[in-house]
Amino acid sequence: MGASKNVPTDPLKITVAGAGIFGIWQALTLARAGHRVRLLDREPVPFAASASRLAGAMIAPYCEAESADPLVRDFGLSAARIWHETYPGLVRNGSLVVASSRDQSELRRFARMTVGHETVSGERFEALEPRLAERFSSGLYYPDEAHMTTPEAMRELLDLARAAGAQAHFGSHLEDEDIAQADVVVDCRGMGASDTLEGLRGVRGERLVVRARDVTLGRPVRLLHPRHPLYVVPWTEERFLIGATVIESEDTSLTTVRSALELLGLAYALHPAFGEAEVLELSAGVRPAFADNVPRVVIGPDKRIIHVNGAFRHGFLLAPVMAEIVRDVLAGQLSNHPLLQRR
Ligand SMILES: Cc1cc2nc3c(=O)[nH]c(=O)nc-3n(C[C@H](O)[C@H](O)[C@H](O)COP(=O)(O)OP(=O)(O)OC[C@H]3O[C@@H](n4cnc5c(N)ncnc54)[C@H](O)[C@@H]3O)c2cc1C
Repeated sequence: MGASKNVPTDPLKITVAGAGIFGIWQALTLARAGHRVRLLDREPVPFAASASRLAGAMIAPYCEAESADPLVRDFGLSAARIWHETYPGLVRNGSLVVASSRDQSELRRFARMTVGHETVSGERFEALEPRLAERFSSGLYYPDEAHMTTPEAMRELLDLARAAGAQAHFGSHLEDEDIAQADVVVDCRGMGASDTLEGLRGVRGERLVVRARDVTLGRPVRLLHPRHPLYVVPWTEERFLIGATVIESEDTSLTTVRSALELLGLAYALHPAFGEAEVLELSAGVRPAFADNVPRVVIGPDKRIIHVNGAFRHGFLLAPVMAEIVRDVLAGQLSNHPLLQRR
């Protein structure tokens, strides 16, 4: 079921701290469940400092299974259904994985590690991505995956949360007073919670946004490479997101030349017309992650403070499921779940 209207007999006053993708989905789901929700974010400009705004935002449970814990795929499939029911801006064109002729062993390995794909070549490949057919003759097609344009999706989900009754306050830090006044605090502050949430670490990521007038892609394309795999996600208005580095570091400084060269070089290898693209943004951020890179709902002994954190690369994919776990725990309908931890 999606984030459905389900008025509880006892609506709670809930403060959600942090308006990244986790916080927005919590606000939407809990408001639709009939609770009185305040969504706070310390940044005056929505999403300005969130890790979420940098995400590729692919709803790709099958492809992510190549490197993620099986929980990510299993709950990612449930989450994908909730996305489909809730967000009309989702583009459901699947995704494609390709490799250069030199890296075909990477493609075979990726096929072995994942399910939900078909091998496409020849006319079928050309029909899917005509602009790539000159350089690539085959690939893995995942028809049930989806994507979105990240900034628009965040704005539109926030609008849905407001329409459901959540009150959003930007430029508001989570203060002791907010905690005292709420029945429940759902802490979705990402790296902002690292001082209170044991085991949280940061994983640096860098990505680019370009405008390429001569490239057309119908879906996200992953280009496999032994050291630097890359993905390109087509956004609206001829924009493309090219990402992303994964570096064990909490350094938030600007994108390095090395990373920019890697990302741009691989985009150029995917299609030379990226050579003419305008670079609109080069950005770096830090993904909040636990040791196993699986997100968790962490509940303290009195259930009043609930942390939802550790999104790593799966924040967009898993956010709806994390929100339903919290909704169902508060309704007394869920006591155990693989993504739920009590302390
Ligand atoms: C380059 C890059 C590419 C990525 N690609 C993907 C991808 O393709 N798919 C995917 O799912 N994920 C991706 N991610 C990871 C993903 O973006 C994050 O892991 C996820 O978005 C984190 O979401 P969040 O809501 O937990 O935290 P955030 O988005 O960081 O939100 C936390 C919010 O809390 C606010 N806050 C902090 N402290 C306070 C306070 N004291 N009071 C009030 N508010 C506070 C912050 O301002 C922020 O808005 C990527 C990340 C990067 C950097």
